[in-house]
Amino acid sequence: MALTLFHGPAGAGKTNAIIKELSSQSANSFKVIFPDSLLIEEYQQNWLQLQSGQGALLNNTFLLYDHFLLALLKLNEPRVHFVGMLFVRNVIRKIIHNSKSPTFKKYIQFPNLMNELAYSLVKLGQCGLNAYRAGLYFKNIPEMKPIINLLHEYENIMASHHAYDSGLLTVALLELMEQDHFKWFDQTTTLVIDRFFPLQPGARELFYRLSQKVKNLNVIISYSIDYAKVDNAHLYYSYTQLGELATRQEHFNLTKKATPITAQLFSNPADELHLVAHQIKELLTHQVDPKAITIILPVLDTYHERLHYLLHNLEIPFSDTHNFKLGKFSSNTSAQEIIPQWLEYNSLGTQYLLGALSTAQIFEEEWEFVVGKLFDATINQPLITGWYQHEKENHSFNLKAKNEGVKILSLTQACLMDTQYLFVAGFSGESLLSGLQDFNLLPSDILGQPEMIETFGNARYKLECIQKNWDDLINRNQTQIRISYSQFDWGGKEQTPPDLFFNEQGIKYQLKLQTDDKEIDDAKARIYPVKKQSTFSITEIETYLKCPFQYYAKHHLKLEEPDEESVDVRGDISGRLIHRVLDKLYGENQDLFLEACDYDLYLKRFKDLIPTLIKNLALDDSHLKKSPAVIQADYIKRATESILGLVDLETGFIRNGTKLTKPHAFEWAFGKGKVPPLKISRDQQEVFITGRIDRIDVDRKNKVFSVIDYKTGELPTGASIKEGLSPQVPLYLMVVKQILFPDFSPSSGMLLGLKEIGKNVGLVFDGLGEDKLLWRTSKITLEEWDDLTLKIENSIIEMTSKINEGHFHPKPLSKTECDRCGYVALCQYKAEE
Ligand code: SF4
Repeated sequence: MALTLFHGPAGAGKTNAIIKELSSQSANSFKVIFPDSLLIEEYQQNWLQLQSGQGALLNNTFLLYDHFLLALLKLNEPRVHFVGMLFVRNVIRKIIHNSKSPTFKKYIQFPNLMNELAYSLVKLGQCGLNAYRAGLYFKNIPEMKPIINLLHEYENIMASHHAYDSGLLTVALLELMEQDHFKWFDQTTTLVIDRFFPLQPGARELFYRLSQKVKNLNVIISYSIDYAKVDNAHLYYSYTQLGELATRQEHFNLTKKATPITAQLFSNPADELHLVAHQIKELLTHQVDPKAITIILPVLDTYHERLHYLLHNLEIPFSDTHNFKLGKFSSNTSAQEIIPQWLEYNSLGTQYLLGALSTAQIFEEEWEFVVGKLFDATINQPLITGWYQHEKENHSFNLKAKNEGVKILSLTQACLMDTQYLFVAGFSGESLLSGLQDFNLLPSDILGQPEMIETFGNARYKLECIQKNWDDLINRNQTQIRISYSQFDWGGKEQTPPDLFFNEQGIKYQLKLQTDDKEIDDAKARIYPVKKQSTFSITEIETYLKCPFQYYAKHHLKLEEPDEESVDVRGDISGRLIHRVLDKLYGENQDLFLEACDYDLYLKRFKDLIPTLIKNLALDDSHLKKSPAVIQADYIKRATESILGLVDLETGFIRNGTKLTKPHAFEWAFGKGKVPPLKISRDQQEVFITGRIDRIDVDRKNKVFSVIDYKTGELPTGASIKEGLSPQVPLYLMVVKQILFPDFSPSSGMLLGLKEIGKNVGLVFDGLGEDKLLWRTSKITLEEWDDLTLKIENSIIEMTSKINEGHFHPKPLSKTECDRCGYVALCQYKAEE
């Protein structure tokens, strides 16, 4: 019957002393309890090292706190079901729904409040308070009454299902210990509680009572607090209490020299994370074990996604305990869509989707179980569906929580773990404060009362805990600490350094502004993987010209550009549909179109086909079908007007003699099936270009041909086509000449705009009969054409070499590219002033 207290700052060697004390015992004679499962592996390794690999390890020797409580309760009670927070919230929903009291009615609609309510009931239990004891404890705080009443009903429903959350486990064990027939684990003579801070009042009471109740049980509590240095009543209150209860105390001093801290200041988080990833890679090349490295990031998805992406591309193994919300991912995502992509491109994006998918499946099963157990016909289906949606959206999942590789942790986890190399990135005053909101269920003026702080904490208390966690973190580190901070956040908003970086004298760490772009650029240069290829589509070529990073995101990583918030039909869906309509219209009615070019009667018949054709294809389109009827009708009307306008324009050109060539082929694909690709060769280097031309027109009499492509989106400028910066039209003309009509000359190449009929761009060849189709500036002579083709060929050879060497730094052709690019959040490009 003994309670021993080991105390002193983190990193002072308490764990080693405990393990030494345990080393003379067999593994089934003790249990060690932790607040986080990550610690279990660390402890097991320390233990095995000390035992030189000889010690037997049992599954139930090192345990999470909740698992320990559950195992102990199961030893005493025949029926115990441990339930998660989903079950807890649904019990509360059921109580509030059936209650006549309006107090908590509105909570049902707000997932955050519901969550807070659920955690507050669990917290009361963790503090050892059931409804009866809570009534006594909070007798001077009448505002707690409604919560205590709710707790009372909650306890009854949970008891009827033999269901326990971690608070109810504590309460049940405390009650059981008052009885004579309380059972303890047969062989366990030592119980160690390590790395908890703060130790909840319920846990303190439980361990103290165990030390009193179980004969010959030695309870050791290791408590990381340097009480000599801390002048804070709340932080050392629990120590003082434990100190008074303990039969033996051991104090530990921190003897190690402070680890040097390097602090870096960045202008933006993208550069900050790039350098972190790069510095880790450097450590690994110097044979540092990845498991010796820890990175701490804020609990914001952007940081984790970005760092995963960088580490993944640098082939650095890592694990991350961050939780992503299921609501981030489309609920329509199906396995059929994801799995083929995953097999072809093992990109990070797909891993996330797969993680989301399997989490969603598990969630469905759990929801079905909970609903079947709790809800009856008195609760209507739409209400249950609304709860289901809230829960599913906020349900979180973790992809890489395994304890392997470089560890990415939160501050509260990292301060528990010993590490050799520590990186702290992404923190700002704002991101730290975002997790510190007060308890919203009660008026803020009562939150400062000692009972309330002890049970729920308040923002100030939480901040003090964070400061203590930070000190523990620094103390536990062995070799190297690098902290960094960005002046601006992801959205370009200025941010303040975290309070942790300050002391009474002002800023604690000398933040060195990272202006050495070379180091950052070197880091970035190593990020992109190399993938050899010799065949490229015209779309790929055009994308790389617009911006190498855009190419990388779209064609290497296969990331879809996020949808624009718009009530209209999406641009890509509209583009595909219009192309199908035009292909069918011209392809299946070629003779009628040729007659329409000469006679009004046939023109009318040709145009009469258009409304029905559009309507049928539009209503057949699986994406468009999902749009509201009013949007579909408006879209069909506008598309019909565009295509009618296009036909008028084209027949007008032919009738007035501006255009000589007439339709010959539609949707002609090259580099596919029997049609070879366009081949470009230079200095033993060969590149093959593939693509599809909407229309090829020919005038056999004059031995000329032209190409047409329909554009539903933005058109490039005529100048960029002539300069070879938008090479689609020239490449189409080159491929038709090379493969289809080597003896003919090009007369024109046009991109016809469907957004604004009559707005067309392209090239018209001087003196070949079609040079009045476009503005004079689009005119080109055959000599200029030869120069242009040479320039384009050279540029393609150079560009494809760069792609194969992995050059993908963001470098937009012009600022307008960024204005319409969907990867702006990912590339973090900042134009130079
Ligand atoms: S936003 Fe600009 S720099 Fe970034 S990928 Fe797009 S085009 Fe390139």
